[in-house]
Amino acid sequence: MEIFGLNVFNDALMRKSLPKNVYKSLRNTIDKGLALDPSVAEVVANAMKDWAIERGATHFTHWFQPMTGATAEKHDSFISPTADGKVIMEFSGKELIKGEPDASSFPSGGLRNTFEARGYTAWDCTSPAFLKEEGGTVTLCIPTAFWSYTGEALDKKTPLLRSMEALSKQAMRILRLFGNETSTRVITTVGPEQEYFLIDKKFYEKRLDLILTGRTLYGAMPPKGQELEDHYFGSIKERVAAFMKELNTELWKLGILAKTQHNEVAPGQFEIAPIFSSTNIATDHNQLVMDVMKKVAVRHGLVCLLHEKPFAGVNGSGKHNNWSMATDDGQNLLEPGHTPHENAQFLTFLCAVVKAVDDYAELLRVAASNPGNDHRLGANEAPPAIISIFLGDQLSDIFDQLGNGGLKSSKQGGTITVGVTTLPALSKDSTDRNRTSPFAFTGNKFEFRMVPSSLSIAGPNFVLNTIVAEVLDQIADRLEKAIDFEGELQELLREIARKHSRIIFDGNNYAEEWVEEAERRGLPNIKSLVEALPYLISEKSVQLFEKHHILSKVELHSRYEIVLEQYCKHINIEAQTMIDMAKRQIIPAAVKYVTSLATSVAAVKNASALADTSVQEGILNEASALLASLKQKLNHLEAATAQAKAMDDLYEKSVFYRDGVFKAMNDLRPDADKLETIVDAELWPMPTYAQMLFML
Ligand code: ADP
Ligand code: MG
Repeated sequence: MEIFGLNVFNDALMRKSLPKNVYKSLRNTIDKGLALDPSVAEVVANAMKDWAIERGATHFTHWFQPMTGATAEKHDSFISPTADGKVIMEFSGKELIKGEPDASSFPSGGLRNTFEARGYTAWDCTSPAFLKEEGGTVTLCIPTAFWSYTGEALDKKTPLLRSMEALSKQAMRILRLFGNETSTRVITTVGPEQEYFLIDKKFYEKRLDLILTGRTLYGAMPPKGQELEDHYFGSIKERVAAFMKELNTELWKLGILAKTQHNEVAPGQFEIAPIFSSTNIATDHNQLVMDVMKKVAVRHGLVCLLHEKPFAGVNGSGKHNNWSMATDDGQNLLEPGHTPHENAQFLTFLCAVVKAVDDYAELLRVAASNPGNDHRLGANEAPPAIISIFLGDQLSDIFDQLGNGGLKSSKQGGTITVGVTTLPALSKDSTDRNRTSPFAFTGNKFEFRMVPSSLSIAGPNFVLNTIVAEVLDQIADRLEKAIDFEGELQELLREIARKHSRIIFDGNNYAEEWVEEAERRGLPNIKSLVEALPYLISEKSVQLFEKHHILSKVELHSRYEIVLEQYCKHINIEAQTMIDMAKRQIIPAAVKYVTSLATSVAAVKNASALADTSVQEGILNEASALLASLKQKLNHLEAATAQAKAMDDLYEKSVFYRDGVFKAMNDLRPDADKLETIVDAELWPMPTYAQMLFML
């Protein structure tokens, strides 16, 4: 309790350090989205500075989230010179509200090609300022949005904030129709469960692939993997517990509600989950969690891997994005109610999400795409690339009944007539059993399980917020015109249940039959990032995002370019790393081994013409054949990367990086992995999977 929020300029501090009217004005901006009064900023900046300096801060920074997916910061000290050759510590309202970091080297997808393309950061006062303590320094961090001179969004936060506004606006229309006169805003809430790997730093340092790409590009499967299921929820090793303890302390100081921690399925894999909060803050916090995890790990001689697939052959990592909508006075809109009226409202929001996910499944698929996730989706450890919704037995049955006009009798007895009948109490257990679904209703929230472990959750959530806002908008339009509200609602929900039942799937998402069934249902099966991205700039997508003022056509196109460019660069770095490791580590080691075998054969034969050297010769032949084959595939990979580099059209190039370069990488690896299993362990130039996964 003493350390929680110690490094946050939180509400309690603001209340204490700000004059009453200033505090009230700032709260109005934070809670109600009212415009910020500039005179308020001056006072807030001063209070922030005094607090930060008292805590040892020397610098401040506008902390923002450019399209790299990481966070960015450029530190400025508080010092300001005085006439007598000394300094005073200053921080103005202007410096708090707006920054001009220029920051022209971040990806902008062509948005900043002109000479006037400056970048600006703007204070997001809905996310509290905080102190970063690193290597003995203390820095005041101001969460900000990042824009271009011409007002286009250059970051991940801006569309997220806009989408929260859009959803609030549309959800409030629905709530008013249900007679809610007290709530003033609807906030989307998120609790992201973060998976990660830890490995010993001494192994990491000997793996060029981990250092440069975050995943192993080579490595034979060790005799033991995850098949004993003995790591999942297992007793936490002392060294890992010590890491977790320090991690929690750091996160709690930052006001992050770190709650749950456990061993995950793969050896060396773990999970941390916070208590949920508003999407904006949850997103900032998740960025901080990833940052702090990496830093704390190093203090314990460990390295934290956030890549989606650091090791082939064992599970990779994802992020379960638990999502709901709540009113500012605390009502969870996805919580089934107790009265017929509450149920009707619950079913309306539930059906809106179902329709949104079906109408815009492609966009959700885009939002769950990064290069690493291409290794996971559909690989029997993560949901398939097909989006479907799990509702659970009871709700699925209710959904069916809605589609039948509420006439059929329910499994639990009774008939569902919206606004008249009470729903059977939903037991949480019955809704939370399916672990294979990409989008599962879990009692009072949806869990979007496709999100990649290293990706900012801003993307998945701004898409989710926007598509639900759109459907709520459609529903509100219709209900606002209705003369018989309940009749119209029943009809509307019936239509949704009928039209969108195809997206509901309660079975095993990992089964081969589901892929066929989904195809019969006409559900998209988008297998990779490259196939997904064009949906971001489709006519339908542009219309949606422009209508709700989330992103303009130009902004969408810039994002499309950024993601594809990053994809090409990622694959190219992986390919170049593979080539380097093959040439300078694997081939030399194999040659050394083959030479030692040849020397042995000659020496033994020389000593005794009768001696049996068939073992040495057998391995010699096998290893030499593998070497020759590996070199040939290496040549293919080199040719493929050269061909890719020469391509101009961005989309064609991306496709070729996947079908040409990535394929050549996959062809090369098995020869090297096979060599690893026969070459003298003393000669093998890099740590093995067994060492990295089991020696923590
Ligand atoms: P699981 O069985 O998936 O581990 P948990 O009960 O641990 O589920 O919850 C997972 C996450 O869901 C937690 O971060 C939790 O805070 C979050 N969560 C719970 N309720 C909500 C909600 N209404 N909105 C968003 N996230 C929520
Ligand atoms: Mg979960």
